[in-house]
Amino acid sequence: MSVENFFSKEEKKQITDAIAEAEKNTSGEIRLHMEGHCTIDVLDRAAYIFGKLKMLETAQRNGVLFYLAVHDHKFAILGDAGINQLVPANFWDEIKETMLAYFKEGKFTDGLAKGILMAGEQLKANFPFHKDDVDELMNEISFDKNI
Ligand code: CA
Ligand code: CA
Repeated sequence: MSVENFFSKEEKKQITDAIAEAEKNTSGEIRLHMEGHCTIDVLDRAAYIFGKLKMLETAQRNGVLFYLAVHDHKFAILGDAGINQLVPANFWDEIKETMLAYFKEGKFTDGLAKGILMAGEQLKANFPFHKDDVDELMNEISFDKNI
């Protein structure tokens, strides 16, 4: 099964809606990238994708990538330098744990949506939304073949 068909159209919408909702709280830019397999260290792979998706180009360096290799059950949340220098190292831990609890029950869509919304809420403190905020990175899910 192609990774693009892992989620139904409705499930994809639930996820992109969650990103849009999260970005109402924060100037941070959230993206989800999905692929089937990840044969290297998941954070290395997420960092590579981060660059490929031009996520290093946000004005405040506050992009956040949710990365999921669905068949290999690998998952990472990666924030850009602007975030890392302001938040503690364990900033994503609670979100990750919450999401993994959903994933273990097979609830991938709900887990991703929940984690994305949590990220928006947590980022609000350091990167609040401003009325003149622009959507610097599109909210659509990206897949391996787009890279
Ligand atoms: Ca924005
Ligand atoms: Ca966006």
